[in-house]
Amino acid sequence: MSFRFSARSRQRMKGVHPALVGVMEEAIRRSPVDFMITEGLRSPERQTALVRAGASRTLKSRHLTGHAVDVAALIDGKVRWDWPLYPRIALAVKAAAHERGVAIVWGGDWPTLRDGPHFELDRRVFP
Ligand SMILES: [Zn+2]
Repeated sequence: MSFRFSARSRQRMKGVHPALVGVMEEAIRRSPVDFMITEGLRSPERQTALVRAGASRTLKSRHLTGHAVDVAALIDGKVRWDWPLYPRIALAVKAAAHERGVAIVWGGDWPTLRDGPHFELDRRVFP
């Protein structure tokens, strides 16, 4: 069985770099865990609010330029934040990215401030 994005998830990828949208579209088809897109392109105002609240540490987020998306795992249509679900989604995203020749970075691989829901295009390839 394969999962599909809702209209809402697709709407949230508006303004996101087509290479990343393509990877996520492929990833949802191969992921063993259903997931939704919670955020793509972000306004400077929202980024400032997130930093102020402590939810983000940078004003240079990849979300500001449409180079990042956040996901939320879904089980029976309900959001789950259980950590083990996210590496499984990440495997599907990485496989999709590899197949398409798109360099991506998973926030869950960061040594500090691990960010399981976050995927972005590699800055070295997509500055
Ligand atoms: Zn993010």
